[in-house]
Formats: sequence, structure tokens, C-alpha cells
Amino acid sequence: MTDHLVSLDFASLYANFHAPIAAFDCGERCAPYNERGVPFCCDTRHMVPTAYQKEWEYLQGSTDLWHLWASDDLSLDAQLRQQTPEGMVLVECLGHRLCQRNYRTITCRAFPFFPYITRQGDFIGLAAYWEFEDSCWVISNLQVVTSEYRAQFISTFEYLFDQAPQEQENYQYFSSLMRRVFGRRHRAICLLHRNGQYYKVTPRNGRMRLIKPSQLPSFGPYRLAAELPFPDEINR
Ligand code: SF4
Ligand code: SF4
Repeated sequence: MTDHLVSLDFASLYANFHAPIAAFDCGERCAPYNERGVPFCCDTRHMVPTAYQKEWEYLQGSTDLWHLWASDDLSLDAQLRQQTPEGMVLVECLGHRLCQRNYRTITCRAFPFFPYITRQGDFIGLAAYWEFEDSCWVISNLQVVTSEYRAQFISTFEYLFDQAPQEQENYQYFSSLMRRVFGRRHRAICLLHRNGQYYKVTPRNGRMRLIKPSQLPSFGPYRLAAELPFPDEINR
């Protein structure tokens, strides 16, 4: 996979995937729920970003923001390394107060979403990493995701899949894993479709039901908060 990524120009890839997820800083919405007061996706106790090997080389030559991640907890260290896809490395930045937006990894930019691929192999939209449902505020407020972010996410991953078809297979496998997990839990998958709409997908047969933003679910501590939205969380 990484052989195909040798020719990737990460500077232009980053430049074309720069739109913030929402019209405001979503980190301010989740940080109060993290005991350290840090956005969950910028706290390596909750999420350790990965970078493609070629991306890591680009970052090393461009910024001092990142270093390779390691943990004193040897079992956690081994577990995360085992889960890290081939051709990727685990990285850690200097912290959210020192973030350099231009040098965020693709995984930072994509979080909390991954490309959702159907059984037939079609990349139809964005789904959220469900293990972060109780921590990531955005997953409970999908209506705030801007159409610009959605479009940039889709074009970035289309380009990556074109350059590295194995990546699409990896996400197809991950999407099938989500369908298995949600099928067992009798849950529908929320999808931000590439056509701009929201759908609920039935995991067992792939049937899609168009839903309104008001029908999107919320989770954990955000369930109550969702009943009292801030004025800037209106549908867009
Ligand atoms: S993407 Fe989710 S976890 Fe990350 S800052 Fe926004 S709300 Fe918090
Ligand atoms: S680079 Fe920025 S967005 Fe990415 S983990 Fe660090 S602080 Fe968060």
C-alpha cells in the first residue's frame, strides 16, 4: 500500500482537506466532559492518531509538532501497535494548545469519521467511529457537519483510494465490521451520505432510510445537552 503512496503530495492533500468540521470549534463542546479539559480526539489517553509512513516523513521534514507515540503501559503499547494498519505509525502531537492546523494528520482531519463502504464496494458517505459515541460531541450532533467538510472528506478519500486501492479494501472491511456489531445490537447506522442527506442504514440488508437532522441520535452525556442546542448548532 505504501508503495502507491510514495508519489502522494501531502502538502496539497492537506490543503484540499482543511475545512473545519463545523462552523465553530467543536473542541469547546467536548473538552468540558474530559477530566483533563482537553478535546477527546487531542488526548492520547482516548485517541492515538496514526499517520501513513510517507505522511510521517513529510511531517518530520515540515514541523516539530509530532513525535512517535509510545506508552509506558507495555500491554497498551503492544495492543495499539497490533491494531495499527500496515504502513502506518502511531504519532502524538505537542498538545491541543500547540496545535498547528496546517500540519494535522489525515486522521486528525477525518475524526470522528471513516469512509463507509457498502458490501458491493461503493464509497457512499461518512460513518462515525462508534466507540467514541459517548465522548465525541460531534457524533451526537451530526447536523453541524458542514457540507464543505463533507465534500472535502469525500474527495480526499476518493483520491487516496485511487492511489492506494488497498486502503478502500481496509475501510470496506471496517464497514463490514460496523455492520456486524450494529446488527448484533439491533441498531441502525447513521450515514452522512455523499449526496448531502442523512440516512439510517439497516446493517443486515443495507436498506437506507432518509432521515431528517432532527431524527439524528445523541449519546451519553450529550443526550440531554442535545435537547438544549446552542443557537449556532442549527441545521445547515
Ligand atoms: S471531533 Fe469530537 S472529540 Fe474531536 S474536538 Fe470535535 S467534538 Fe471533540
Ligand atoms: S494535531 Fe491538533 S487536532 Fe491533531 S491531535 Fe494534535 S491538537 Fe488535536
